[in-house]
This record gives sequence, structure tokens and C-alpha cells, in this order.
Amino acid sequence: MPLNVTVWHEFRHEKTNETVKNLYPDGMHIVMKQAIEETLGDGVNVRTATLDEPEHGLTDEVLDNTDVLTWWGHAAHAEVSDEIVDKVVKRVLSGMGLVVLHSGHYAKVFRRLMGTGCGLKWREAAERERIWCVNPGHAITAGLEKDYFELEHVEMYGEPFDVPVPDELIFISWFEGGEVFRSGAVWKRGGGRIFYFRPGHETFPIYYDKNVRRVLGNGVKYVAPIPGTLGHTLNAPNIKVPLSPIQAEHEVDESLH
Ligand code: ZN
Repeated sequence: MPLNVTVWHEFRHEKTNETVKNLYPDGMHIVMKQAIEETLGDGVNVRTATLDEPEHGLTDEVLDNTDVLTWWGHAAHAEVSDEIVDKVVKRVLSGMGLVVLHSGHYAKVFRRLMGTGCGLKWREAAERERIWCVNPGHAITAGLEKDYFELEHVEMYGEPFDVPVPDELIFISWFEGGEVFRSGAVWKRGGGRIFYFRPGHETFPIYYDKNVRRVLGNGVKYVAPIPGTLGHTLNAPNIKVPLSPIQAEHEVDESLH
């Protein structure tokens, strides 16, 4: 069965900023969708959802049929309704995978799931980024040709990054200006896995980069629920249960002693 993936995008910059509109005429979400399809082929069924749709495009029907949700937001985090955030968080805890991209570090869903402030340092100086793989052999790095890849012009994100210590650290970035950053990390929350991947500033053609596209697809696949486990954490309801007597009903063959 193909994975059901929903690419969620704030989709505001493309409507107001010429640079972003020129880079992503149909919206960044369409390019992300194509990148995921390019990497995972028939293994995925990808749809998109955006902030300005009713319920931000994340109706119960959509969420109930989403195995992995990807999230890009920046200027309008505060406009995401708390009711939808509650539903997304609950769905992640019960097993849905979540891929949080770039400025999604400040999204309500990510901050709720991390439990920390999720702040960082930033600078937009179109500098070079070298993204080092620090977890060789990890599934998220499949298909990368070297132990690092570079992006020519990026917005810098620098440490300290106010997140809990990741369960798995995959990438560390170095920037021309001297900063470093934990650019690719995985956390498990309840039954769900969350992959944060740093690249993705809207005024640079980041989602056309072949390595970024590959990692995005790999990340979606990696955080997907293990078949048959989705919803298992809902079976931990914190209720009192009676003593279950342990009964042994077996016969001993005394002739052996
Ligand atoms: Zn940015």
C-alpha cells in the first residue's frame, strides 16, 4: 500500500513576494510534492493542504488518512488554529510521521511536540552552507553521494537551537559566517517520529536542489508509521485494572525425574 503523504504549506509568501513567486509560481508545496514523488515513486500518494483552506486543509478526513505530514510555515504560525494543532499533535502521538521544514521550527505543532522554545539564531546573507552527514548509513542519507553536500546561497540558522537532545542526529551544517547548526534530527514522541530538516528558505531555490529533494523523500519514508502500529499509544489510557491471576495449567511428566 502506498504511503499517504500530506504536504502542508503556509502558502503566503508566493502571493506577496515577487522573488518567491518567480521561484515557485505554483507554490512551494507543489515543488515539495514533486520532490517526494521523485524519490518515492509508486510508494507514495501525495496531496497538499494550505493555511487558507477551510480547517487549513487538515480536516479529520484528511488527517485520518495521512501517514506522514510535512510542514512548512513562517510568517503566519499564529494563524494556525489551536484546534487543528491539537488534532495534529494527537495524530503524531498515535503514530503519524511529521517532517518539519526550515522556519517550521517555530510552528505551533513543532513547539508543542518538542516542549521547548525552539528558538535559534539567523541571518540572511546569501552565504554558503555545507551540510555534513554525521550518521553514516542512516536511511535518511540514502542516495547522497558524499558525506556532505553544499547549498550555494542560504539563510543561516545557528546554534544554540532550543530543542531537546535529538534521539538521532543526522546532519550538522557549517556556514560561511562561522556558525554551526543541527540541521537534520529525529525525535520520537508517543508512537510518532518527527524529522526536522533545516534547508528551505523561500527566497532561494532550495527545493530544486537534488540532495535536498532526496533527503525530503527519505525523511518522509523514515518517519512513516511501521505497518500495523498506528494508534497503539491510544491503548495506554491510564485506567485502573483488576489483578489478572496467573494460572499455570500444565502437567508434569514425573516419569522423567
Ligand atoms: Zn527562512
